[in-house]
Amino acid sequence: MTFTTRFAPSPTGPLHLGHAYSALLAHDMAQAHGGRFLLRIEDIDQSRARPVWERQIYDDLSWLGLDWPQPVMRQSDRLARYRAALEQLTAMGLTYPCRCNRADIEAAAGAPQEGVPQFGPDGRIYPGTCRSRPTAGRTPQDVVRLNMEKAISAVELRGFLESGPEFNGTYELDPEQLLSAVGDIILVRRNMGSSYHLSVVVDDADQGITHAVRGADLFEATQIHVLLQALLGLPTPEYHHHRLIRDETGKRLAKRDDARAIAKYRAEGARPQDIREMVGLPPSSC
Ligand code: GLU
Repeated sequence: MTFTTRFAPSPTGPLHLGHAYSALLAHDMAQAHGGRFLLRIEDIDQSRARPVWERQIYDDLSWLGLDWPQPVMRQSDRLARYRAALEQLTAMGLTYPCRCNRADIEAAAGAPQEGVPQFGPDGRIYPGTCRSRPTAGRTPQDVVRLNMEKAISAVELRGFLESGPEFNGTYELDPEQLLSAVGDIILVRRNMGSSYHLSVVVDDADQGITHAVRGADLFEATQIHVLLQALLGLPTPEYHHHRLIRDETGKRLAKRDDARAIAKYRAEGARPQDIREMVGLPPSSC
């Protein structure tokens, strides 16, 4: 299989130095292996995605010296594909509709107990209020959740290969950890037709991604993705969770961190190799 990496930004703001690092690293790794570098626009959240940011992504990445095959995969074009994946999980009896809002979840979570995690990769761990609701009772206001307990017993758990700076080797999934520290994650968000977790798993498989290169902030989410891959019968790529680019106070850069936007450095006359240098990458070989 051709060594294939991807960069998967959401067009909800300007790309900053952290994105540049992620994209350049994924590109350089593909190039070093004679492989392919793909781009994917993660725009399922249509309330936040904007065409202007999508155009800026193409423009910034080209300026950085990257190129990628056309057509670019866009998640907003793929809702039918996500629906099919959801139906697969539903047919296995692993999903349920949930009407709880944030306040309901807070109220049902109760007082913190020592040694019991309250927060997982998606925020507060869902207390299970709607778990016994029938699938057929779903309304447009509901989200759809994965029943984690049923999911981990429906499939043989497999680990994933990680080559990041913090962990190098096979990372085994732990059913106890999935139950207590991850819980019933959302597969379909309200008004979105999917969720980050469901889309990323289906897209990585459909794009033939062999090496997922992304920030260390997504390491915790990877156990969810590997579980979904096993449930859906999809391959598990190798992962490389890279270090995060931080500001001078040690805080990781956020989308609203316009001060470090690539567009701003460009406007100030920086060259692509200056950006490479700023994020600690060697000069481009091409
Ligand atoms: N779209 C995600 C982001 O912008 C990245 C998803 C991924 O690399 O898996 O943070």
